[in-house]
Amino acid sequence: MRQSQLFTKTRREAPSDEVSKNAQLLIRAGYVHKEMAGVYSYLPLGRRVLTKIENIIRAEMDKIGGQELRMATLHPSEPWKQTGAWDGVDVLFKIQSRTEKEYALGQSEEEIVTPIAQQYAHSYKDLPIALYQIGQKYRDELRAKSGIMRGREFGMKDMYSFHTTQDDFDRYYEIVKEAYFKIYKRCNLDAKATEASGGSFSEKISYEFMVLTDAGEDDILYCDKCDYCANVEVAKNAEGDACPKCGQTKLQKAKAVEAGNVFDLGQKYPKAFGFTYKAEDGSDHYPIVGCYGMGTTRLMGTIVEVFADAKGIVWPEEVAPFRVHLIEITSDNADVHTEAAELYRELTSAGVEVLWDDRDARAGEKFADSDLIGIPLRIVVSEKTLAAGKFECVERVSGKVEHKSLSELIGRLTS
Ligand code: ATP
Ligand code: MG
Repeated sequence: MRQSQLFTKTRREAPSDEVSKNAQLLIRAGYVHKEMAGVYSYLPLGRRVLTKIENIIRAEMDKIGGQELRMATLHPSEPWKQTGAWDGVDVLFKIQSRTEKEYALGQSEEEIVTPIAQQYAHSYKDLPIALYQIGQKYRDELRAKSGIMRGREFGMKDMYSFHTTQDDFDRYYEIVKEAYFKIYKRCNLDAKATEASGGSFSEKISYEFMVLTDAGEDDILYCDKCDYCANVEVAKNAEGDACPKCGQTKLQKAKAVEAGNVFDLGQKYPKAFGFTYKAEDGSDHYPIVGCYGMGTTRLMGTIVEVFADAKGIVWPEEVAPFRVHLIEITSDNADVHTEAAELYRELTSAGVEVLWDDRDARAGEKFADSDLIGIPLRIVVSEKTLAAGKFECVERVSGKVEHKSLSELIGRLTS
């Protein structure tokens, strides 16, 4: 895409009421627009990043047999009343229509997915099933000071699985856990799984996936020799204690953000809706349900928090809005523009996503914007590179500079 056509522009300052680093940078670079505390619109650059994150999640959920659907977000009040969540869930947004009918905005979708599964799963032969969606959630959060990491409207992948036996559920639970680790890895994030309390849902075992960052709202204890990790709130140990798992070193305390979780919901929801299936011997049973959440917008905010430096955002390759930021240094020599245009054509036809800064602006301004926007590889075309016959390539994450010919570049970017 030509940057001269991009309708957003970078800005020097974020709104004064925006305290979080992720939202400040994302607003300044033109990724998101703040509507009010906890609510953001995603502009073309931000939409590209979010779609990439969603596609990573989608691919990994599809690989483990998840079937994608899109459930309603405007909910009837009845199922919420049926499970007790209408009065029991404090973050539930409730709406009253002009006809005095009441509705809820989806904050999680057990109340919707359970009756859907019930329509189709009648026999043990119909199970297990895993249904997921990627979309908007609404929560009446008290604090919304973490930018896009804690929204009142936000993006989430939520999956629900239905099983005949606890063993089958336990098996699938481990599969999802592995898929979650793959997703974080593809986002360059190092996540740790805690054994969590299960919160308001159940007493059963569940995991929270934690990413270390000072912007996180949770305190965790972890071991850097093994994978032990626990939320300080629930941990039986304290900072400085020997690791209860490997005993090799002392536990450390850190701030972390919950980037996802998996819960064993047991039979609570099937019981609330009278959802039973017929077993092989003809008897009726409630399925066992698991739910698996992952905040897509929170993941995007977390990536910004973890990798940003003093100059701006630093995107890992798989989630960057573009792979290459092509910077054309404005020149009286028309060949510079011709060369930049040629490189743009070559790269885009090789399938490389390029943002081409073809604006009539000073080099310093272009470089500062490029640092702020955070695209992984910057390629500079100038009179100097023209004379040298090689393009200047700068890695955003390290600042490492290399000089490459067109064929070397294509080779590197398409391998
Ligand atoms: P938290 O403890 O941070 O409030 P939660 O326990 O309420 O999270 P879930 O209800 O299980 O989280 O939601 C699943 C996932 O959705 C979370 O792991 C997180 O990644 C994301 N998430 C939850 N609340 C928000 C929010 N307000 N804004 C953005 N993402 C959120
Ligand atoms: Mg919450």
